[in-house]
Amino acid sequence: MKMAKRFEGKVVIVSASTQGIGFGIAERLGLEGASVVISSRKQNNVDEAVEKLRAQGVEVLGLVCHVSNAQQRKNLIDTTVQKYGKIDVVVSNAATSPSFRSILDSEESLLDKLWEINVKSGILLIKDAAPFLSKGSSVIFISSVGAYSPGSLKGMYAVTKTTLLGLTKALASEMAPDTRVNCVAPGFVPTRMNDYISRNELLLKAIEEKILLEGFGRTQDMASAAAFLASDDASYITGETLVVAGGIPSRL
Ligand code: NAP
Repeated sequence: MKMAKRFEGKVVIVSASTQGIGFGIAERLGLEGASVVISSRKQNNVDEAVEKLRAQGVEVLGLVCHVSNAQQRKNLIDTTVQKYGKIDVVVSNAATSPSFRSILDSEESLLDKLWEINVKSGILLIKDAAPFLSKGSSVIFISSVGAYSPGSLKGMYAVTKTTLLGLTKALASEMAPDTRVNCVAPGFVPTRMNDYISRNELLLKAIEEKILLEGFGRTQDMASAAAFLASDDASYITGETLVVAGGIPSRL
């Protein structure tokens, strides 16, 4: 496929981006001309992902960054600015999704972890990046279609994703007019995170029945939505969430 080049000269940070949706977003923006900064917890995953992107001609910097580690977040931002001089796009993609547990059965430590990784670390990453964000920059959160119907099997995970819808609105208002803040809410994409669903035929069938279009989502589907929101094509859009879920019910 011939790519547009909407991100030439732009510097993009995507958190949790050595595989899955985060990698897909970094790859798409990189192929569209961005310098991309990818990261995750494990050095070998970072190295492999960097190699895959370089092989496609993408300008990439790879760093280890566990999103809840303040020092590693600071290093991510500082090294990006030292190398590229500014930041144009931040995609906050990291999340933890423990297997099924009702909210009232979740231990305090699990509630803390979900809040810390899925919500607080994203806020702190953007806080760290804020002084270096260019005029016309863009922030994107990765929520979930489950954000619109929390309370099902995913318990507190879905509630953290609902929180991101509110956070998108709140930060859009705080960061306007220089920075737009939007959100992508993916449907079901078979990735490592939800391996436990992919291995359960009953669950897969239940999800499939809700999808209007054919098949499960692909990381590329999420990447093209994120690329749209981060690009100048969306220059008059802020505070919005784009659901990319093949028609799984979300909202009117
Ligand atoms: P994935 O394929 O499992 O990839 C997760 C990536 O995040 C890996 O690169 C992993 O690398 C890194 N990572 C995990 N924990 C991290 C942490 N604490 N700090 C930094 N990096 C971390 O996951 P995914 O399915 O693409 O999910 C990405 C986002 O999409 C999440 O926010 C998820 O909630 C959302 N989402 C996914 C789906 C879906 O169906 N897949 C649906 C709705 C929403 P390391 O192991 O090296 O850290």
